[in-house]
Amino acid sequence: MNEHWLGKLTWEESVKAAKSTDAVLIPIGSTEQHGRHLPLDTDAFVASRWSELTAIEAEKQGLTVLVLPTLNFGVSWYHRNFSGSVWLSPGLFVDVVVEICKSLTKHGYVRKVIVNCHGGNAATLTVAINRFYEETGERVLLAQWWEVASDVLKDMMVSGLIHAEEAETSLALALGQRVLMEKASRDAFDRGKTVRERGYAWSRHAKYDATFKGGFVNPPMDMIDEISQSGVVGDSTLATKEKGTKILDTLITRLLEVCEDLGRQSRRGATR
Ligand SMILES: [Zn+2]
Repeated sequence: MNEHWLGKLTWEESVKAAKSTDAVLIPIGSTEQHGRHLPLDTDAFVASRWSELTAIEAEKQGLTVLVLPTLNFGVSWYHRNFSGSVWLSPGLFVDVVVEICKSLTKHGYVRKVIVNCHGGNAATLTVAINRFYEETGERVLLAQWWEVASDVLKDMMVSGLIHAEEAETSLALALGQRVLMEKASRDAFDRGKTVRERGYAWSRHAKYDATFKGGFVNPPMDMIDEISQSGVVGDSTLATKEKGTKILDTLITRLLEVCEDLGRQSRRGATR
């Protein structure tokens, strides 16, 4: 088996790898509270494992996919009242991501996919990949698990998709994360209702659910401790390993297809 982690290569091996790599995955997570039942590193863990498993599967299919060391910090200011949470300001986070991409490009790694597993990073990463494109003319793709598997999630999940809830806990179980299921809880299950009850700016048309419900105006993030005592937003008691495995299979298959497409294009000589 080849080495899948860029960080495990020597620089000489990296020179070679840059020439033969079909795609580079950049896993990004967070260090933030995930309720009473999941560890702080859950997003980073999911990003690392999803990327690594995809690289392993890629090798079986004759592709070379390299995984960058995981970026464990992200946009988590709204979790900051829970112990152990660490955050970067959105502006700094954009700079960090752009610099990482530029570093890779300098040494010939031009087909990159950011594998993001923290919802709070999403808006900022969109800014980062567009800024990187504007500055360098190079396109980086962004894969986020709740989007990659959105159809599967919609069919399978009882509750919505927000934080440390049914879907994320299921995925954590499937990936072998430390999960204290006896401490799983249901909190702020209806985020919109919770926000309204607190007396905060609310509209029936605001989008409070990450994926499934409509809404055509966007509210900002909520300071999580103001809407949930445990830190969970949703229902983590409904999580099972079986549900997680179904999500995970979809995630690996589809991310692999993305790598396959990029690899095919690079063999045709595309560099951007
Ligand atoms: Zn998470």
